[in-house]
Amino acid sequence: MATLTLNRLCKRFGTGAPAVHDLSLTVEQGRFLALLGPSGCGKTTVLRMIAGFEQPSDGSIELAERTIANAAAMLPPEKRNMAMVFQSYALWPHMTVAENIGYPLKVRGVARERARKKVREALDAVRLEAFAERRPAELSGGQRQRVALARCLVTEPDVVLLDEPLANLDRHLRQEMEEAFREFHARSGATMIYVTHDQAEAMALATDVAVMAEGRLLQMAPPEEIYARPEGRIVGALVGRGAILSLPHLPGTDRLLDWPVLQAAFRQCGEGLPRADILVRPQDVTLDREGLQAVVTSALFEGERYALRLLLGDGQTLRAFSRQPVREGEAVAVVIRAGWRL
Ligand code: ADP
Ligand code: MG
Repeated sequence: MATLTLNRLCKRFGTGAPAVHDLSLTVEQGRFLALLGPSGCGKTTVLRMIAGFEQPSDGSIELAERTIANAAAMLPPEKRNMAMVFQSYALWPHMTVAENIGYPLKVRGVARERARKKVREALDAVRLEAFAERRPAELSGGQRQRVALARCLVTEPDVVLLDEPLANLDRHLRQEMEEAFREFHARSGATMIYVTHDQAEAMALATDVAVMAEGRLLQMAPPEEIYARPEGRIVGALVGRGAILSLPHLPGTDRLLDWPVLQAAFRQCGEGLPRADILVRPQDVTLDREGLQAVVTSALFEGERYALRLLLGDGQTLRAFSRQPVREGEAVAVVIRAGWRL
């Protein structure tokens, strides 16, 4: 099993704050890890260290219990059995689709019949059987990306690295490609490490999400867990929709707070008690006469429902959904069924 381990990994460029700081995580073979974080937080640098294009300043990288990089030595990229899919696809324009996909096999001296078979399988895996003889210029953006994926599939890598591969595609194509990535992952059995700043993409694709900010790992967990139990304000704000309320901290309460506790907290707002950040998801807010007074500041029609932004009497903002039409400026009352203390 080719488990990938990053062990207290650091990367410094020059003198400023390190691009990656003391980052440790383990990815078991066959997992699909999304590295999620805002632009500039160090995602690409982590990926490039895993690939072997950058050397760690400190810490180490292990693959299948073997150290492949540390500050003293590193295994060159071509010896790591990894494949990196670039955003630009990097296809050879003068070669056909089949030739592009077969190129890594040719370089490795794989026998022609065997290479042909592998190329056919890879074409099939990305559903491009009918396009084998076309050239990249004759393909759409999504099809080119599939070719790039197929080319990486033929080498049977242990680890596939993808750096924001969908950033240049339109929304419709992104959805189609998300499905292609999931299928590709299921078929190849490879470990995938997928860099993105798009939380919806990370949640939809990955088996595990690692949230980064300012070079550090804040939390790593399956998407459902990151969504339900985010650790701290940054993760809470980055993952999923919601609003963060600042309310008096009532000692002795659980982290998952219900309406009676929240109501009690609202009542003690003026009393100078220490405060806590409470994340409230829109689906946990219902319009209900028994609740807090609020004003609808925006109502966005999403087809199935309206997505609302609400202003509470104390100036804090909430998000909610409503199936019934709601107008901007309307006064409503809301009950918060659940909140999560960050
Ligand atoms: P992300 O991919 O999350 O947007 P990067 O890993 O590209 O972030 O960059 C993290 C930080 O490291 C940024 O501040 C960036 O300017 C810096 N950085 C990245 N590569 C280099 C480099 N080759 N030389 C100097 N600074 C770099
Ligand atoms: Mg980047």
